[in-house]
Amino acid sequence: MKPVLAIVGRPNVGKSTIFNRFVGERKSIVDDFPGVTRDRLYDEANWQKHNFIVIDTGGIQWEKEDISLSITKQAEIAITEADVILMVVDNTIGITSDDQKIANILKKTNKPVVLTVNKTDNFNKSNAYEFYSLGLGEPIPISAVHGANMGDLLDEITSHFFEIDKNEDDDPSLKVAIIGRPNVGKSSLVNKLSNEDRVIVSNISGTTRDAVDQKIMYFNKPYTFIDTAGIRRKSKVGDPIERYTIIRSLKAIERSDITLLLIDALEGVTEQDKKVAGFAFEKGKGIIIVVNKWDLVTKDSKTMKAFEEDIRDELKFLSYAPIIFISALSGKRIYDLFPLIDEVNENCNRKIETSLLNQLIREIVSYNPPSKDKGKNLKIYYVTQIKIKPPSFALFVNDDNLVHFSYKRYIENKFREAFSFKGTPIRLFFQNKKGEK
Ligand code: GDP
Ligand code: GDP
Repeated sequence: MKPVLAIVGRPNVGKSTIFNRFVGERKSIVDDFPGVTRDRLYDEANWQKHNFIVIDTGGIQWEKEDISLSITKQAEIAITEADVILMVVDNTIGITSDDQKIANILKKTNKPVVLTVNKTDNFNKSNAYEFYSLGLGEPIPISAVHGANMGDLLDEITSHFFEIDKNEDDDPSLKVAIIGRPNVGKSSLVNKLSNEDRVIVSNISGTTRDAVDQKIMYFNKPYTFIDTAGIRRKSKVGDPIERYTIIRSLKAIERSDITLLLIDALEGVTEQDKKVAGFAFEKGKGIIIVVNKWDLVTKDSKTMKAFEEDIRDELKFLSYAPIIFISALSGKRIYDLFPLIDEVNENCNRKIETSLLNQLIREIVSYNPPSKDKGKNLKIYYVTQIKIKPPSFALFVNDDNLVHFSYKRYIENKFREAFSFKGTPIRLFFQNKKGEK
């Protein structure tokens, strides 16, 4: 599990500017997919050999609340969610009572807190020493807009990462995140799965930091179910809880191999479901759509199909995800989840031989050749798989500018028809062949 850094501070001190500096302005994979909604409050960053997660708590909006209350909640979230906390203050304004309030909350945690004084555009006019009085140690002056002193700040932040448990890589179990809105039935599902004779629940405390992981042996195979609901109950953070559960969900997805997205049969797909689904897609994770509380639906022979169509319509970018209808309460069909999880996992790890890929691409192109663009034809010379989880392919072409989105989609669909990729995203990367263009 990657270390998590949370950025806190009152509005306008430069939190999102710093966030963008840390994560970079890279183009998101989801940009090409209409319907994927994402919050930019959570992303990955790299510094030297460190790879970590950054949360911009300023991105969490608490409706109908005053600013002072929101920043207090944000600081509390940072304390529960993060391994290291970055508190940002403003050099041009000096200490405010809100800064003081945040600092007082952060002082109560035993997690490392780094204090940075942003908007120090001119280091001769730094007021950094003033911020010592917040009691959070040495203030580090930076200018996020100009990128000044960011390296020193990142060195300080990452120096706290060494203590963090990274043993999860040694855990051989398949990690399954259970995601969905409050009350959709996440805990019920985990409990039901754990309380049956067929499974053996291991109580050996895992190597992870999240106490709600449920380890289950099913037919001699180890699974870890990551239930995002349990943690929420333990936290002291009050309502409204939705934005906060998104962060929980994103962290769980990040750690998982497969995501089970639980949808309430009575409520259907919500905005929050779309966001977390978009994240699982972007992160290349396997995904299964699980419609829960199916027992509450009055059904006839067409109900399931109609429901499925609604979901497909709402979650267009997840057309590859299987849908299963269960009742966590009665246990109906919950054991069908295991073979489905295994199948999706196999697909996420699927490797296709280069010779097969090249034979296929020739057929795909000859069946429906790319149309001419500015008098030029796209030529695909060679395809090879470059990675699994998710299966990713490099297609060497004469000019990648000639690749139309619709043609890319067409190839993806044909790949999906030819090979079993149910439940896994796949990626196509077009690269110019050397010497061309
Ligand atoms: P947030 O509300 O804490 O996320 O703050 P933002 O990142 O949105 O920044 C608030 C304003 O401060 C924006 O207009 C930024 O351009 C500006 N800002 C951010 N960092 C710096 C800096 O280092 N120097 C100066 N002069 N302005 C900055
Ligand atoms: P969580 O917040 O997602 O963990 O949801 P819970 O597991 O706590 O479930 C919320 C409520 O929905 C509880 O009262 C459960 O008994 C109920 N519930 C969960 N799954 C089902 C189901 O499949 N059918 C019915 N009828 N109720 C369910």
